[in-house]
Amino acid sequence: MANSEYEYVKREFEFDRRLPASNWIVVRIDGCHFHRYNSSLPPKRLSTNFSFLFVRFSKIHAFEKPNDENALRLMNACATSMLEKFPDIVFAYGVSDEYSFVFREETEFYQRRESKILSLCVSYFTSLYGMKWKDFFPNKDLREPPYFDGRVVCYPNMKTIHDYLAWRQVDCHINNHYNTCFWMLVKSGKTEKEAQQTLKGTFSKDKNELLSQQFQVNYEDEPAMFRKGSSVYRDKVETKVKTDDYGNPIKRIRLAITVSNLDIIGPEFWEKHQYILQE
Ligand code: ATP
Ligand code: ATP
Ligand code: MG
Ligand code: MG
Ligand code: MG
Ligand code: MG
Repeated sequence: MANSEYEYVKREFEFDRRLPASNWIVVRIDGCHFHRYNSSLPPKRLSTNFSFLFVRFSKIHAFEKPNDENALRLMNACATSMLEKFPDIVFAYGVSDEYSFVFREETEFYQRRESKILSLCVSYFTSLYGMKWKDFFPNKDLREPPYFDGRVVCYPNMKTIHDYLAWRQVDCHINNHYNTCFWMLVKSGKTEKEAQQTLKGTFSKDKNELLSQQFQVNYEDEPAMFRKGSSVYRDKVETKVKTDDYGNPIKRIRLAITVSNLDIIGPEFWEKHQYILQE
């Protein structure tokens, strides 16, 4: 092992934060500048030579508004590969350009070292996104390198982890409800400013009325992936493993990584899938 007079720079300056034991570890990644410009560096103040840095990822790749289905499926495919790569991720929830990854409570992944866990998740997800892009956008070149930020939060008990996931799904609903109305108005000829003005101060009930009366749309009929976001987890599925001597199928319960668009706020999902957080 190398041992030089410079080793002290590691010994005395590097500190590894270990995440507290017996907590679920959540890593949330989020696409950088998928829509917004960097608010700390307004593009107006920049020389046009640098404006490419602030191109909106979803705009330059012409994502459909308000929901580009292929972009969401790409995110889901990346999340599925995350669960394949990191067995200690027991649940993932994604919406828009973000995904949350829940590591099991007692994980010893990289001895719970925060910077390892965070950096591995962000870099692996980002690589997957670039690698899988062509599978979901065969006719669109990736014109900007996608990049994601990430954070880690620990949740000490079942209630807080349920509430965390409920918080993200409520956020999905609020944003999607608004965006569905906003883009219906814009596509029907209103300017973005007018659409914004129309929706200002409206409640959920008003948005449903607007959708049904002006556009004959029942919000509940919109695709579940847009309304509920996507959950990725290992589901118990019955699979045929072989056939017996008489040609009858022999079935076993296997865990298969599954993507669903169910409600995870109410108790039903968790009652049916108790093993996800308990095993
Ligand atoms: P930041 O860099 O701070 O995350 P951001 O521009 O990425 O800023 P977000 O709050 O993360 O802003 O919002 C992501 C935006 O990206 C959405 O509001 C939406 O405009 C766009 N977006 C992400 N995914 C999709 C999608 N599948 N279809 C259409 N638009 C999308
Ligand atoms: P960890 O995942 O802990 O970083 P590691 O296997 O990546 O483990 P490192 O200590 O980072 O180990 O060492 C990187 C190793 O990768 C080198 O020892 C070498 O074997 C190989 N490697 C990296 N870059 C090159 C290169 N340009 N040419 C040949 N080998 C390389
Ligand atoms: Mg605990
Ligand atoms: Mg973002
Ligand atoms: Mg986001
Ligand atoms: Mg290395």
